[in-house]
Amino acid sequence: MNSSGSGRLATRARFKTTLVAGGAGFLGSHLCDLLLARGHAVICVDSFLTGSRANIAPLANHPRFRLIETDICDIAEVEEPIDQVYNLACAASPPRYQADPVHTMMTSVAGTRNLLRIAAAHGAAFLQASTSEVYGDPASHPQQEDYRGHVNCVGPRACYDEGKRAAEALCFDFLRHDWADVRVARIFNTYGPRMQPDDGRIVSTLIRQALAGEPLTINGTGEQTRSFCYVSDLLDGLVALMEVDPNPRTPVNLGNPGEFTINELAELITRHLKSRVAMVHQPLPEDDPQMRQPDIAKARTLLGWEPRVPLREGLARTIDWFLTLRPEIVRKAEA
Ligand code: NAD
Repeated sequence: MNSSGSGRLATRARFKTTLVAGGAGFLGSHLCDLLLARGHAVICVDSFLTGSRANIAPLANHPRFRLIETDICDIAEVEEPIDQVYNLACAASPPRYQADPVHTMMTSVAGTRNLLRIAAAHGAAFLQASTSEVYGDPASHPQQEDYRGHVNCVGPRACYDEGKRAAEALCFDFLRHDWADVRVARIFNTYGPRMQPDDGRIVSTLIRQALAGEPLTINGTGEQTRSFCYVSDLLDGLVALMEVDPNPRTPVNLGNPGEFTINELAELITRHLKSRVAMVHQPLPEDDPQMRQPDIAKARTLLGWEPRVPLREGLARTIDWFLTLRPEIVRKAEA
């Protein structure tokens, strides 16, 4: 691809049309809502691999919303002018991304390349949803953006972790060559309404089990730590990173630095639900990280961003949403 020239990367005073790849997923559907509320026209691109039609059903008749149902590995062009591209398309929970590991890797590599090419062709800004998984099982704590990670490139998580690392490499090649105005967010564990109860992520799994009256399954001792960011905080950070001028030209961690053990998370959920379910410990999955905590100094300085929703409050909002699904959860548990 030829260089697009500096004029096409000029910052625009007002963005109009935004493509959200993965827009039917957990984070993507909230992002579509937020961008529409901010006056954007939104083109949602999704294959519904892990996303849900219910997440975007309320937007179906919105005059500024359009759905393109396709795999990003197959997308080559979009007709109308585009100002921004957010790439959130990728299965994010281990059971889902390990179900078809080759497709997961190709989504991050071929799919990201396709979307970068579209951004370059339109002179659009591009934001890649990268992940704390690029740090692997980190030997440095908390994780700063210049830590290069500790990833097993031949393990069962490699399709996701290495795919996301390759996607970052592509992003920075497009940026270095001035082909597109690219930003990279390294997202840490994010939770909230619209997570799918059976997606295998820790927050959704524990809430689902507690609601179904099943024992909570805890990997290992449960003393491994994670940091949990509420969805609205994360989205504020993503939008701030997309819109900050000048482009930081560096990956930016987005997450909540509050660090909790899995046992503490389970305790908060059961206390909120006043449930008395047992906990069963099971072996740690291969390459499961022992510690996760973002250093967000860069996001604070560059974006003026700070997560605001405490875990207890975010969990309460998430559990309220899961309660609307309770009949279905209990029915499945009894079947
Ligand atoms: P999700 O699984 O709910 O959403 C992903 C969406 O992408 C789904 O709608 C899915 O159907 C779609 N998709 C997947 N592969 C596709 C493909 N090849 N073509 C078209 N659409 C495809 O996950 P999420 O939690 O909303 O995560 C969104 C993004 O943020 C992902 O890229 C993920 O890696 C990243 N991320 C999320 C978290 C988190 O805690 N939620 C943490 C780090 C990074």
